[in-house]
Amino acid sequence: MTCEATRGELVGFHFGVLEEQPRAQVERHLATCPVCLGEFLSVKRDVELSAVVEERPRAQVKSRLRSAVAQELGLVAGPPAWWQRPLAFGLAAAAVIVAMVSVQAVATSTPSAPVSVNRAR
Ligand SMILES: [Zn+2]
Repeated sequence: MTCEATRGELVGFHFGVLEEQPRAQVERHLATCPVCLGEFLSVKRDVELSAVVEERPRAQVKSRLRSAVAQELGLVAGPPAWWQRPLAFGLAAAAVIVAMVSVQAVATSTPSAPVSVNRAR
């Protein structure tokens, strides 16, 4: 295999997508040709560096997604929706009013209720 042909296959060789025969030819050539071996190492480095550069936006997206999911599950105290505060306050106020009314009803009820029911008949 010539140096020219080997260099054409280096990227495919790195990703392991070459057929059995060209892969063996590249391996054999790299074992004997330090120039092509150096070329292969530089291809390998370029691929790895571009993978690292590609990693950054993906990590950003991942962390953004993670925080969105956490917020959805209520794990993180994110900014509440505009309706959440009034709704929570309204529910709390309703609970207090119900409690006050039922306490008052129990406190002011007379034990003669069954009697008055009997009188109605
Ligand atoms: Zn070579």
